[in-house]
Amino acid sequence: MLVHVAALSFLFFSVQSFTIKDSLKKFNRHSGNTPADEDYSVSTLIERANVNVGKNQNEPLVMFGDIAIPTGLQNADACTRDRCRWPKAMDGFVYVPYRISRAYSGRERQTIVNGLRSFAASTCVRFTPLNGQRDFVDIQSLSGCYSFVGRRGRGQVVSLSRQGCVFRQVIQHELLHALGFNHEQTRSDRDRHVRILFQNVISGMESNFIRLDTRNLGTPYDYTSVMHYGRFAFSKNGQPTIIPIPNGNAVIGQANRMSPIDIRRVNLLYDCRMYLRPNPANNS
Ligand SMILES: [Zn+2]
Repeated sequence: MLVHVAALSFLFFSVQSFTIKDSLKKFNRHSGNTPADEDYSVSTLIERANVNVGKNQNEPLVMFGDIAIPTGLQNADACTRDRCRWPKAMDGFVYVPYRISRAYSGRERQTIVNGLRSFAASTCVRFTPLNGQRDFVDIQSLSGCYSFVGRRGRGQVVSLSRQGCVFRQVIQHELLHALGFNHEQTRSDRDRHVRILFQNVISGMESNFIRLDTRNLGTPYDYTSVMHYGRFAFSKNGQPTIIPIPNGNAVIGQANRMSPIDIRRVNLLYDCRMYLRPNPANNS
């Protein structure tokens, strides 16, 4: 099967700093639809932690909020066919070696390890300590939360800054990037499920909302995906940047862990047959 999860356009935008405006009208306080309600949504955590991303020249170029872009490579596709998938072993598991920087405290390290282990509970992905393998995930506390999309070859940085990224939902989000997944709101069919209000997006941050040519693996669009940004992501004025359609009040981007569809996608992409069960939602 041709698997082409992510095609990134090589448009270069500089990542700019921003703050989330707090002085906003407090409407529908408990609906999950106000900026205040999104304090711990995955996209709010990542936005906050990434204010300094792009300022350190030793770090990769970061676009789409938290996706590291390989530079110096000719290939315009970050993730073509099977090249960016992690290989499956003969026993049916997908072993992804990892190394965790010594910069973390014991508690932070345990949170990260727990995030890595959470994949083993419901998928055939097994993050295992690096033991001489060539390709691995190199978890470091750099200037924000970010990851490359898919396997890049050799040690690939997943940055989980001690300042704001060591949370389960952020760890799962960045590792899903490393496994080959893009943001839900950039899906090829997103315009049927969300409307992007570019007029409210911080200048220079529009690249976060570019629609990509993704393979969606027959799974439905998922507002509860840990890969979905919140309603006010990258807002310059406190007004929404993403509105779900047709129900504008649907809660989006509030996941604090992988959704059942996130899990199903991992199992579909990696053909984890022993973990695939009939899909409770309609395939589309
Ligand atoms: Zn992301």
